[in-house]
Amino acid sequence: MRGLMMDVPLNVSAILEYGARFQGDVEIVSRTVEGPIHRYTYRDAAARSAQLANALLTLGVLDGVRVATIAWNGYRHFELYYGVGGIGAVCHTINPRLHPAQIAYIINHADDRYVFLDLTFVPLVEAIAVQLPRVRGFVIMTDKAHMPQTTLPNVLCYESLLGEQSPAIEWPHLDENTACGLCYTSGTTGDPKGVLYSNRSTVLHAMSGCIMGATRRSESSAAMMPVVPMFHVNAWGIPYAAPMLGSKLVFGGALHDAASICEMIESENVTSASGVPVIWLGLLQYLQQTGKQLTALKSLSVGGSAAPPSMIEAYERMGIEVIHGWGMTETSPVCTNGSIKPKHRSSDITEQLKHQMKAGRCVFGVDMKIVDEDGLPLPDDGEAQGELYVRGPWVASAYYNNAEATANQFTDDGWFRTGDIVSLDADGYLTIHDRAKDLIKSGGEWISSIDLENAAVAHPEIAEAAAIAIPHPKWAERPLLVVVRATGSAIGRDDVLRFLDGRIAKWWMPDDVMFVDELPHTATGKVSKRTLRAQYAQIAAS
Ligand code: ADP
Repeated sequence: MRGLMMDVPLNVSAILEYGARFQGDVEIVSRTVEGPIHRYTYRDAAARSAQLANALLTLGVLDGVRVATIAWNGYRHFELYYGVGGIGAVCHTINPRLHPAQIAYIINHADDRYVFLDLTFVPLVEAIAVQLPRVRGFVIMTDKAHMPQTTLPNVLCYESLLGEQSPAIEWPHLDENTACGLCYTSGTTGDPKGVLYSNRSTVLHAMSGCIMGATRRSESSAAMMPVVPMFHVNAWGIPYAAPMLGSKLVFGGALHDAASICEMIESENVTSASGVPVIWLGLLQYLQQTGKQLTALKSLSVGGSAAPPSMIEAYERMGIEVIHGWGMTETSPVCTNGSIKPKHRSSDITEQLKHQMKAGRCVFGVDMKIVDEDGLPLPDDGEAQGELYVRGPWVASAYYNNAEATANQFTDDGWFRTGDIVSLDADGYLTIHDRAKDLIKSGGEWISSIDLENAAVAHPEIAEAAAIAIPHPKWAERPLLVVVRATGSAIGRDDVLRFLDGRIAKWWMPDDVMFVDELPHTATGKVSKRTLRAQYAQIAAS
């Protein structure tokens, strides 16, 4: 028997309408590329998103047309999320830190018809424009006064485009499975692959984000700042969850250094911020060096790569709750949330931290299993290690226009193979041991590069560390540790090895320690182990 309930499609435009109507006076604050801080409200954002949508319709952007963005976090980017997705077109967010050739590849693969770009990226796009014959126009996200001289063909000015349009719109009622967003994986594991989000997946993922907020120790939804870029898996869904919650939104623009982040968090009374570990490691160092404090911040979400336990503990000791999550471009991204359970609340902080150090616990809506090399399921006992498979309403079912990658990473019975080696405990907490290709296979046994790195960065004089496999004639592979010293430190190889002694299994001890000024990072802030492996391959050969 079917239930007798309304079959109302889940559309992203409804989030914006709700925000405008019932959170209309809540602020969105942006540091602009042009310089000044810009403030307006959800009501204003909805009116301008409607103007944008009307402009797009006059440009012939209809159902399913892909519209690219190459932009920082800011209010115009927010308008694109809704203005494009709301009319049934697809907002394709592009990571500007990718190699220009990869950006051109992605634009052509997606068949983007318009490219919206911040002023910062005019030179970048000018350099690849000739490779983009199917793009009909380039819209520079600024006002008339700031329009640059450019060699880009068919250039439009964002504010002029909006200025001519009505702020009224009847958002279409779209089939909820209509695509609204597109994001390519950063290519850490090969050519970038497109993940096409639907209105339904986006709304459900955002609602899940709101539920997760309710499981925190702290009430931290007053003002949210996604430091994670809007081109990195839709800033983890925050621009969609914030209007549901009535949270003030704070966008940091082009500045990502610790001092600017700290200044924005303090001046805008940000209560919850989100970003990758390298950002929060940098901020921690900055706070320690300057003695500055974060007075309003209650919680900090971290994910995208492993968050070192020593960093989690340092923030927790400052009274900032750290929420460690796991996710991928293919999973919208959030699949776990690192809050403690109600039953853990009465335990002391040391006990609570044991759970928070893990990579979050499985959220409702996402189904997880771990399997061995033959694809057979392993128990949720916190011990067994295997590849993580996931499925759920905000997990991709295929890659966009890529049958080969789809065949490789999706099983016939409806699971997505993540390529991460994990264990899962009975409470649903996940421990990420490694990406399968980053594991160090020594003498037939696995060494977790993440565990080695975490052990190393617990040393106060180590700012960042990466463990990689180098070929070895007897053991097949052995670990090499590459270390960035903390400012002012002169720590040496033997000090590092002595520190690790007793903290890791003897046979995990790195064969060598190399010191560098900086580690190579990928476009999404992960340490690029592929680059490191290539750099240090000769060590093994010598
Ligand atoms: P790409 O796959 O292109 O690098 P993603 O952002 O989709 O880009 O990366 C997802 C991967 O990031 C996961 O498969 C996992 O290896 C890693 N990752 C994400 N969150 C965590 C976490 N909390 N701890 C460890 N690794 C993580």
